[in-house]
Amino acid sequence: MFRGVKKILALVLSVTAVVGSIAFGGQGSTAYAADPVVVVIDPGHGGENLGTDYLPIPEKLYTMQVALYMKEELEQYNNVTVYLTHTQDIDMDLDERAEFAKSVNADFLFSLHFNMSISHELYGSEVWVPSTGMLYSQGYSAGNEFLTQFEQLGLFNRGIKTRIGSKGTDYYGIIKQCSLRDIPAVIVEHCHVDHINDVANIQSQSKLKALGVCDATAVARYFGLEKRDGSVTYKDYAPLAVPVPEARVYNDTTAPLYLEAKLLNYNSTSRYATVELASLDNESPLQYYAFSTDNGLTWSTLQPWDKGQNRMTVTVNIGHGKKDTLLFKVMNLYDIATNSNPISLY
Ligand SMILES: [Zn+2]
Repeated sequence: MFRGVKKILALVLSVTAVVGSIAFGGQGSTAYAADPVVVVIDPGHGGENLGTDYLPIPEKLYTMQVALYMKEELEQYNNVTVYLTHTQDIDMDLDERAEFAKSVNADFLFSLHFNMSISHELYGSEVWVPSTGMLYSQGYSAGNEFLTQFEQLGLFNRGIKTRIGSKGTDYYGIIKQCSLRDIPAVIVEHCHVDHINDVANIQSQSKLKALGVCDATAVARYFGLEKRDGSVTYKDYAPLAVPVPEARVYNDTTAPLYLEAKLLNYNSTSRYATVELASLDNESPLQYYAFSTDNGLTWSTLQPWDKGQNRMTVTVNIGHGKKDTLLFKVMNLYDIATNSNPISLY
């Protein structure tokens, strides 16, 4: 229940007490419009804090652009009030952002980001959520809406994750600061600016706008909003119901238990090898695999692992030149890898 609804219920109850004869039967809840949902959009970084600066344009400029598009789109819906934590290119501490959200009675804060990996091999979208209680459930449910939207743009879904720091609490400052104030908050990592699979998604204004529209649509679905012109409604849409966890939800910190690679077929003329891979990770899903023909010095582009499976058969082209061995690796939801046994090709 949103704060606003509670407020109105309280008002209704007090009115009933005074005018005891008012009959509510048949009126329905529509007689009382709920207070607007309050959404705070947090464009990640700003000022001296550039964020990822792998590309000539730093992350802080992408997050601001997408935040503005998100706000513009979200404001086409009824019953929502939208704020940005900042609209100027300024430094802003994470606790200030959370404090701002509190000052406007935010129902949710969405912190927008773009990603890169040190290895430059990762691609796709992910959402970081609070690790405890109702905040976890709300974060996970909203995160699911974002990733569903991004998948429709062709982005790889890297999952919804928690991250616990060395102090045993949420690692990410914006999530921690909002949790302290009992405000649900998620970090939306739209895509990786350093990977060829993703970079087209940020290379034009229309692409950035598409991301902002995805963000707004995700929020509209989560809160069951309806467009002012009636063209879109999510009033009857039910977002994913996520049970409230009894204990803190920890991230996986260990690698998949094993990866067995078994050569099924190798054609030395076409240079295609068909291999059966078997792996197991009891703590988080398997997410990508790759292969190497130089004993792990360099790797192929990561490929999606079949979701929910422990076993998959893959066919890879090992390319030209003298290649004696084939090695595979598998990575879990947290990008922790396990290598396979080497396969001899001759
Ligand atoms: Zn960032």
